[in-house]
Amino acid sequence: MRHNMSGQSPEISHIDEHGLIQVKITLSNPLRWVNSYIMRDEDGMTLIDPGPRTNTSEQEWKDALTMLRIGFDEITTVVITHHHPDHYGMAGWFQEKSGADVWMSERAHQEAGLMWGDFGAADMNEEMPAFFALHGMPQAWLSQLPEHLNSFIAQVSPQPKVTYIREDTPLRMGGRVWLPVQTAGHAPGHLSFYHPDSGVMICGDAVLPQISPNVSLVPGSDAEPLWLFLEGLRRLRELPVRVAYPGHRHPFTHYRERIDALLLHHEERLTDIAGMLSRAGGLTAFEVCTALFGDQLGIHQMRFAMCEALAHLAELVRQGRAEQRETEAGVYRFRLV
Ligand SMILES: [Zn+2]
Ligand SMILES: [Zn+2]
Repeated sequence: MRHNMSGQSPEISHIDEHGLIQVKITLSNPLRWVNSYIMRDEDGMTLIDPGPRTNTSEQEWKDALTMLRIGFDEITTVVITHHHPDHYGMAGWFQEKSGADVWMSERAHQEAGLMWGDFGAADMNEEMPAFFALHGMPQAWLSQLPEHLNSFIAQVSPQPKVTYIREDTPLRMGGRVWLPVQTAGHAPGHLSFYHPDSGVMICGDAVLPQISPNVSLVPGSDAEPLWLFLEGLRRLRELPVRVAYPGHRHPFTHYRERIDALLLHHEERLTDIAGMLSRAGGLTAFEVCTALFGDQLGIHQMRFAMCEALAHLAELVRQGRAEQRETEAGVYRFRLV
């Protein structure tokens, strides 16, 4: 029988007195694992963020459910924080096996359609390279993008039928009533779930310990993602949180301090980029990207680095600190105003 790469069964932790269970599902990228959460109540099991669909994750889930003595038919609800493959990917697989309802925000579902919908995949394979070309990315990188983007299709197949979660409608999971908090920037329509009485926040990738959640400018999606991300952090910061359960790494209690550190990180990065633009007199987004992150990245990391650089440049433009001009070569350069 095939197990995960380490040959171990998935790590399962009972993390609070209300019966919340954390299951670590292996990722092949540097994030190493995604946290899925399970809760039980009289209506059945709710599963949050099952992970990407791979041979490894399928086996890990079969092992995890066996260890927890949960049958697929007991899973009545799958809840998705956001559309990224490492969270949303197995929703359709679980729906096929269990008949569960799959819940996510309408905005997140729209974004899944943009990336992988019938109308999405082929378009994005052309639109993203064309967009990055305008922003100075060399052909050697651009030519890798379509295959890279296609590699996610298997991780999100089959795609689920979805029911929408509205931010103004509390959600009952595991015998507790949770308040959905919708933010953007890391992913449009991202939902966190807050339980005021116990001070528990299930925060997906909106707030992560140790890792700065990627903020991406993606063609056809939100035009000012960093602004939206920072606005979201400021809203999340208002909630008194005792313990946060993130999409990656470990549960953490320094929730507000972590948000403050992320806000500061982005302010500093904006200042750094403004400094680069003032010294160079104008740079493409790709030049900013490689100045920040180097050029020794794989295509996966390079895509996120480029989208992150673009998100910061868009914020400098929104703040009136920089402007974007098209050169005679048909490439955009950013410079200070
Ligand atoms: Zn994510
Ligand atoms: Zn993630």
